[in-house]
Amino acid sequence: MKCTFYGVCGSYPSINSLASIKHTACVSVETDDFLLIFDAGSGIINLGRSLSNPNKPIFIVFSHFHYDHIIGLPYFSPLYNSQYNLTFIYPNVDHLKTVLPKIFDSDFFPVSFSDLPNSPTIQDLSFCNQLGFSLIPYNLNHPGGCFGYRLVVNDKSVIYATDNQLTPDNQASFSSLFNDCNLLIHDCYFFEESHSEHKSWGHTFLPDLLSLALNSKIKHLCLFHLKPDIDQNYIDAMNTYINSTIKHNQSSLLATVSYDGFSLDL
Ligand SMILES: [Zn+2]
Ligand SMILES: [Zn+2]
Repeated sequence: MKCTFYGVCGSYPSINSLASIKHTACVSVETDDFLLIFDAGSGIINLGRSLSNPNKPIFIVFSHFHYDHIIGLPYFSPLYNSQYNLTFIYPNVDHLKTVLPKIFDSDFFPVSFSDLPNSPTIQDLSFCNQLGFSLIPYNLNHPGGCFGYRLVVNDKSVIYATDNQLTPDNQASFSSLFNDCNLLIHDCYFFEESHSEHKSWGHTFLPDLLSLALNSKIKHLCLFHLKPDIDQNYIDAMNTYINSTIKHNQSSLLATVSYDGFSLDL
């Protein structure tokens, strides 16, 4: 399967000149049989533009409904093209059915959800079992709640854990939940900022994330949901810290500060 990052920012699309980190949360996982998309931040607009095979079913899985995770949804082209087979997946179907009409409410967008030319089917997670893969939900530590997911296809697993705050109290439990995966995509909004000023923002600091990854069996860690408008110096400093910590721990962990357009095969 192939994993592609279409948007890696948290909060809002980046408006600085750093072109490689631009859009908000959207990651795709593509197999021969389906295209699964985590979140519909502004990155999903380019994903929609890149599609060329209407025969492959598309599943959009939502983590939560903060703006940075849904802002691209009204502009996702398959919603306007009935050749595409679209399904929205969320653990709480009733909640999803309440939220969608609000996103497409006439105060915010000209086309209502019920008038979309290609209405998606709405399903809970049990739907995935019928299709030969599993999606295991995790409750993440984030104001208002957020779901993380472990996607298992054949013998490979990808964890998508955006918008999660690791703390000394929850580090051990998340470490065991996230253990033994091929790819962990995890919130890393902060690096050098003050802990005390961002105590309950629901986002993670790089040293806490790296310590979790080094203590779990994770092959590849992708730092995700980055602070918008960070510059290359900030990213260079993150990479220096990551490389020296991995070396110091004599670990074989791979770690990538993700960027729009980054992709990897699993
Ligand atoms: Zn977010
Ligand atoms: Zn959020």
